[in-house]
Amino acid sequence: MPEKLTDCNASTGAGRIAMKNPVVEMDGDEMTRILWAMIKDELVLPFVDLKSEYYDLGLENRDGTDDRVTAEAANAVKNHGVGVKCATITPNEQRVEEYGLKEMWKSPNATIRAILDGTVFRAPILVSCIKPAVRSWKKPIAIARHAYGDVYKAVELRVPSAGLAELVFTGADGQAVWREAVHEFDGPGVLQAMHNKDSSIMSFARSCFRYALEQKQDLWFGTKDTISKQYDQTFKNLFQRIFDDEFADAFKERGIEYFYTLIDDAVARVIRSEGGFVWACKNYDGDVMSDMVSTAFGSLAMMTSILASPDGCYEYEAAHGTVTRHYYRHLKGEETSTNPIATIFAWSGALRKRGELDGTRALVEYADALDAASLGTIETGVMTKDLAGLCEGITPKPANTHDFIRAIRARLEQAPATRA
Ligand code: NAP
Ligand code: MG
Repeated sequence: MPEKLTDCNASTGAGRIAMKNPVVEMDGDEMTRILWAMIKDELVLPFVDLKSEYYDLGLENRDGTDDRVTAEAANAVKNHGVGVKCATITPNEQRVEEYGLKEMWKSPNATIRAILDGTVFRAPILVSCIKPAVRSWKKPIAIARHAYGDVYKAVELRVPSAGLAELVFTGADGQAVWREAVHEFDGPGVLQAMHNKDSSIMSFARSCFRYALEQKQDLWFGTKDTISKQYDQTFKNLFQRIFDDEFADAFKERGIEYFYTLIDDAVARVIRSEGGFVWACKNYDGDVMSDMVSTAFGSLAMMTSILASPDGCYEYEAAHGTVTRHYYRHLKGEETSTNPIATIFAWSGALRKRGELDGTRALVEYADALDAASLGTIETGVMTKDLAGLCEGITPKPANTHDFIRAIRARLEQAPATRA
């Protein structure tokens, strides 16, 4: 059962945009929880008659519900199709002590991803005064990382001495049907075995093709199939088959392409490109390349993260964490200048998607106006401190968190979409 259905009618004035169906709202921890409330109060509730199904994923409530709230929230996203999530603490030993937790609960994002069987797309938010480190990049590059298997679920052995390493596959009926020598060791060494599943690769492929269609952007994919003639070749073949069978016509209609190349060639082309595409990556490539791409675009605080399931559910959030250091300063009563942009874009992304699914044009226009007001504010020089050090061509006027959000509100109030 849902925790609580909020119909936030109590807020300001008439003329707010109506919603047909709710978004699933997942509150979180620390500084981002503070941002969450400010964004709702200043940028959402004054303009939208918000329908949200609220789940509190703050660490205390996860502990209090034995983490059931996380699974309930994920199932609610499955049910309603759209969710927006605040950053949350993934507990480690230190957090168990700090919060007196019953258990070291799992990462909420991992739980949600497992329930939605989703793929994470990370896309940078570009502003004209922050130039990417790669000069040719003019448009965002979204990275889709396959979040199952490979080296992340590998078994490993530190080989102690000379001996024979073999790979054995035993069928479900208990019969060993395949055995192959890996290496005849003449002394100590290392050994690793990893796996993936057709079902997971196909889910990943469908999420990527669907997302590319949605974004009207080409999809790139690269593996090392020339060297890995079974493993990587399977990724390549399954992607191609799903594309041919399920997506080729739709891609043609939208005027976009599916482009496969070797991973090393893909890396070289990405650097020479203008951007403006979705890059599907195997698990390890995605781990490494998303850090490279996000850093080259500027700042983690300007990166959104979208979890898309193969059956068309979406969860939006900021790519950064709960910004603990700023929160401790906030608790001491000190002023903070925490960048809310990625969390604002999570809200606008979710409300835009809700509007698209429900055919509510006013909600889509509001989401576009919110993005434009946020970026427009930065382009006038008003920005948080993290961006002040990165921007070029204008004189930054660093603002504290709340003043920055208020400046965005003032701009949003002038937008035609909110004045109707
Ligand atoms: P973080 O919260 O992303 O912050 C790392 C540093 O990056 C901050 O101290 C800050 O640097 C800078 N930063 C990040 N976001 C910023 C923003 N919006 N505005 C300004 N500066 C920003 O990562 P962390 O400190 O490693 O992790 C903190 C907690 O977040 C952990 O408990 C972790 O489990 C959790 N986490 C959650 C998610 C998620 O829910 N998706 C993701 C990652 C981490 P300065 O201090 O130098 O200003
Ligand atoms: Mg990484």
